[in-house]
Amino acid sequence: MTTLPINLPECDPRARFFPREWKESYFRRHYNAVVGGYICPNCNNVFRGVVGLRQLHADHKRPMSRGGLTVWENMVLLCKQCNLAKGASLDESKLEEAYQSAD
Ligand SMILES: [Zn+2]
Repeated sequence: MTTLPINLPECDPRARFFPREWKESYFRRHYNAVVGGYICPNCNNVFRGVVGLRQLHADHKRPMSRGGLTVWENMVLLCKQCNLAKGASLDESKLEEAYQSAD
């Protein structure tokens, strides 16, 4: 059962990447008004505005290599440093960088 917020495009659960719209929506939904930005759940650094959003990577909570799907419930935004530090998905991180710079 998926709980995709309205106005977001559907995504193939087998797709390697989360749609940009999902990432932006997640960022807005988890915006912390006290600190004025998004707090990386891993390192607690604060990321603000468009620049902050660019430093965040949409990550699979459960990696695809372990059966995780590209669904809303399985998405989390981590900062670049934390995402890269996870290591397990190094190739995926590189690919996502390529994806993000393709703007
Ligand atoms: Zn972080």
